[in-house]
Amino acid sequence: MEKKQKDVLLQTPKGMRDILPEEYPFYQSFFKKAEEIATYYGFQPIQAPHLEKIDLFTAAIGETTDIVEKQMYIFKTRGGDHLVLRPEGTAQVMRAYLKHGMHTRPQPVMLYYKGSFFRHESPQFGRSREFQSFGLEILGEANSIADATVIRVATAILEDMGLKNFIVHINSIGDKECKNTYRKELSNYYRRKVNHLCKDCKRRLKENPFRLLDCKEDSCKKLKEEAPQMINYLCSECKTHLKEVLEILDALNIPYILDHYLVRGLDYYTRTVFEIFLDEKDESPEKPSQLKNLALCGGGRYDDLSKILSNKDVPAVGMSMGAERVIMALHEKKLLRQRYKNPKIFFIQIGAAAKRKSLILTEMFRKANMPIAQSVTKDSLKSQLKIAARLGAPIILMLGQKEAIEDTIIVRDANLGGQDIVPFSKAIEFVKKKIAKK
Ligand SMILES: [Zn+2]
Ligand SMILES: [Zn+2]
Repeated sequence: MEKKQKDVLLQTPKGMRDILPEEYPFYQSFFKKAEEIATYYGFQPIQAPHLEKIDLFTAAIGETTDIVEKQMYIFKTRGGDHLVLRPEGTAQVMRAYLKHGMHTRPQPVMLYYKGSFFRHESPQFGRSREFQSFGLEILGEANSIADATVIRVATAILEDMGLKNFIVHINSIGDKECKNTYRKELSNYYRRKVNHLCKDCKRRLKENPFRLLDCKEDSCKKLKEEAPQMINYLCSECKTHLKEVLEILDALNIPYILDHYLVRGLDYYTRTVFEIFLDEKDESPEKPSQLKNLALCGGGRYDDLSKILSNKDVPAVGMSMGAERVIMALHEKKLLRQRYKNPKIFFIQIGAAAKRKSLILTEMFRKANMPIAQSVTKDSLKSQLKIAARLGAPIILMLGQKEAIEDTIIVRDANLGGQDIVPFSKAIEFVKKKIAKK
């Protein structure tokens, strides 16, 4: 093969990428922190497959949404099934809840999930075709405290990751009744302005008028400013629900703004919808954040989803948070700390006999929960000492031919100099004491 042809073999599919060892620890620490906080609040893990039947998403998300219309990776299996790479997590968590009869467990059922999701959109900054999310769902609870809990946990994750300046955009899109009234008002409004709408919005107007509020075309954005607001059409129950959520956010000091045109394009949302952004007011105007207009997290209540998928009535609320975007935000704010600590012990081995015995010692230290670094492939003392110095390990273990035969090890203090010869059986205790003094 020509070199040029071979280069093609090395490319990842468009919008997908490798996460290299330097970057991987940031993902690890994000998911670890998110799991820790979710667990503390009573969420339990669930893992659903990466592949689902296509009907789940067309029914749940809605045929006229961007995701279903053009962003799903769909393929036909050898068996003739139509499957899709999951574009989001909520529909499948609800599917799992219903399939496994979780309504018979004590309610609410609180679940969290993490992993890759896939959307075939035009790749751009902060938007990959394979992206990693952390999500939460509270199923079987209609009370506004559940909505606030989901927002609380989401903001706690951002805070604990080190992000301080974010803001929750929140709105209510009502329930079946008031949502329909609003839909009609919105249609009427835009029908009067139809000549000023972009081509896509002319089509959207017939299918799903809510989606006009999400249009990024300038002419449509301008029309939005005068569009009717949901808040004026909420029924009294929906109004009370929103008021309660906001009261809890106030009590928790969570920064939010009421965003009257936030609808989140998916059909299954009812009442609360929210997205969390970096707060623009502390962006310098000369250097706006690259994450401007990109939500770090989004979610909402979806009381009708269970009725689309089954005949059960399961009020529920959830959110999902993009790992990439949170890491980008931390990077932009220079808050990304080196998450990987180098071990304090470096283990040098010289000669074949020592290399073989080294596995016994490595296993002893692993069981004692004492991390060590080593270079298994380097033979010379000099090159191994060089690596130890680069890592800044204060304690160096050395195993040579003689020590390997005698089952002893040399323990050297890298800073003070000086060394001791210690039998294998005493090595752990000895090194532990030395580290304690560091
Ligand atoms: Zn438009
Ligand atoms: Zn209502």
